[in-house]
Amino acid sequence: MTEMADQSAHRLGDESAGHGPAGHELAGPWLDLVATARRTADEGLVVGTSGNASVRVGDLVLVTPSGVPYDRLGPADTVAVRLDGTQVLGRMTPTSELPMHLAVYRRTDALAVVHTHAVHATAVSTLVRELPLVHYMTAALGGPVRVAPYETYGTDALAERMLEALEGRTGCLLQNHGAVTHGATLDQAYDRTAQLEWMCRLWLTAAAVPGRTPSLLSRDEIRRVGEKLAGYGQRATDGGPGPR
Ligand code: 13P
Ligand code: ZN
Repeated sequence: MTEMADQSAHRLGDESAGHGPAGHELAGPWLDLVATARRTADEGLVVGTSGNASVRVGDLVLVTPSGVPYDRLGPADTVAVRLDGTQVLGRMTPTSELPMHLAVYRRTDALAVVHTHAVHATAVSTLVRELPLVHYMTAALGGPVRVAPYETYGTDALAERMLEALEGRTGCLLQNHGAVTHGATLDQAYDRTAQLEWMCRLWLTAAAVPGRTPSLLSRDEIRRVGEKLAGYGQRATDGGPGPR
């Protein structure tokens, strides 16, 4: 056993004593978390070590470590904290945005959070206080997407502004910084980030046409679509696509 794994096992002993999931229960979620974080880099939503992600497992939260390229993360690098921020697993320092991630888990029933510096989302965050209602997929984020006023990265103040902007929503923009989304799974949180980035790109593209102003949807229509989207896709009994 390596020194790091030994220490992990030792610290995990605290968790196995009845306060949270045992080590083997964290292995799968950690791999999923690393895969999601890598996806943000591979799909151009972050550059370098910008952005971070987390997933909740019981009363623990697995988070990406601060300033470490995602392609260097392996199973032995698992970082876990309690909801109060106490680190219970891993040697690496958790993401500097731990206050944002923990704030989401304390306030909502989300099980995953994705934060990126996606370029169109960040550009929009410098221009408006709310993403204009350029597409009905606004409803997939719970309603008009707000921009949290600027605060320094990694601060409690940023987490507080983010929570205000997230009220009733599953995503928001952070002024001159980026975007945050949450969901019931890492895939859902990631998809919301991708949809939000796409919508920001859409608005910037339409708004850039000289002499023209994009048409926008009403708040009423976004509400109607929100209700309709609840029944979108396959019914549970359909069972999804069959064999080809
Ligand atoms: P970390 O590397 O500490 O996660 O910070 C990246 C970031 O996006 C800060 O806002
Ligand atoms: Zn950031």
